[in-house]
Amino acid sequence: MNHLTIRLFLLWCCWSVAPFLAEAVVTPPNEAGSAGRTWVRLLEDAERLQLPTKFLKALPADFIDFEFDDLRTYAAEYHPGEHRMVLNRTLSFNVAGRTLKPLGKMTHKELEVLYHELFHAYMDYLTVLDGHSGEIGHRSEELLRFAREQQGCRYGEVMITPIVQRSGETESRYLTQAESWEALNETWAVFIGWAVWNQLELQHRTGRSMLHERGSAQQWIQRFKAALEKGEFRGYYVPEDPEERRVTQKRFLAKPSQLTLGEATVLMEQVFGFSNDFTKQMDASVGQPGRLTCSPAREKAN
Ligand SMILES: [Zn+2]
Repeated sequence: MNHLTIRLFLLWCCWSVAPFLAEAVVTPPNEAGSAGRTWVRLLEDAERLQLPTKFLKALPADFIDFEFDDLRTYAAEYHPGEHRMVLNRTLSFNVAGRTLKPLGKMTHKELEVLYHELFHAYMDYLTVLDGHSGEIGHRSEELLRFAREQQGCRYGEVMITPIVQRSGETESRYLTQAESWEALNETWAVFIGWAVWNQLELQHRTGRSMLHERGSAQQWIQRFKAALEKGEFRGYYVPEDPEERRVTQKRFLAKPSQLTLGEATVLMEQVFGFSNDFTKQMDASVGQPGRLTCSPAREKAN
C-alpha cells in the first residue's frame, strides 16, 4: 500500500481501526506541556458553557494528541491506537493549526464534531485501561462491559442501507469483530454529538440550561424522541472484505439498527453524568417498550 492510498483511506473515516497507519502522520504532535494546558482550558471552557464533562475528567490531560490539518472530506478523524485526534484547521486558535481554539468561539456544529471525537478518545482510553489491567479481580469499566454486551447482541448482525439515499431499502449483514466495534462506536458518537448540539441549541434559544431546568430537559427529550422516530442515530463501518470495499468505503446502518433508548440512557448517565431522574424522564416520555434489548447481565458483578 503506498502513502497516497493510506492518506485517502484515512480521509474516508474518522475512526480508523488499523494501527499500522501510524506512518501517515500529517503534522507533528503538540508538545506535552502544551497538550496539558490545552486540556485544562478545554475542561474550563466546557464547564463555563455548561456542557458535559464527566467523561472528559476521566481522561488524563495528555492522553490525546491534538493535530490540525486541512481536512476537506471530513471534519475530523480519531486514530485509537495512537490516541491521535486530527481536527480541521478551522478548529484551531486563529486557524493557525497549533492549538485548539476556545470552545466558546466554536459554533454549535464544531462542538458537535469535537464531542463526537472526544467520545471516540474516551472509548479508546477505556480499552487501553482494560488492556493494561491483568490483575486478579479487575473488572472492566461498566461502560466498556455494556459496550461489549451490546456489540455482541445488537451489532453482530445489522441492517444496512446499501444505497445511502434510499433509506427504506435495507439488507442484512453479519459483521466481524472490528466492524461491529466500529459500528457501535460510530453510532454512539453520533448520539453524543447530537446530544451536545441540541443542548446548545436549546440553551441558546431559551437562555436556560437543561441541566438545571425540567422544562428545558423535557424539550431536549422531545427532540430526542423525534430524532429516534426519524432514525437519525445511525453509525457506519468500513467493510473489511476487499470485495465489498470496492463497492463502497462505508456501510451505513439502517433505522432498525440505530441506537436504542436503552443505549441512549446509559450514555447519558455514564458518559455525561446525567441523573437517574433525567433518564427516567426519557424512559417515560419516549415510551419505547423494553429499555434494554440485551439481558441485564451488566448489572451483575461478573
Ligand atoms: Zn466517528
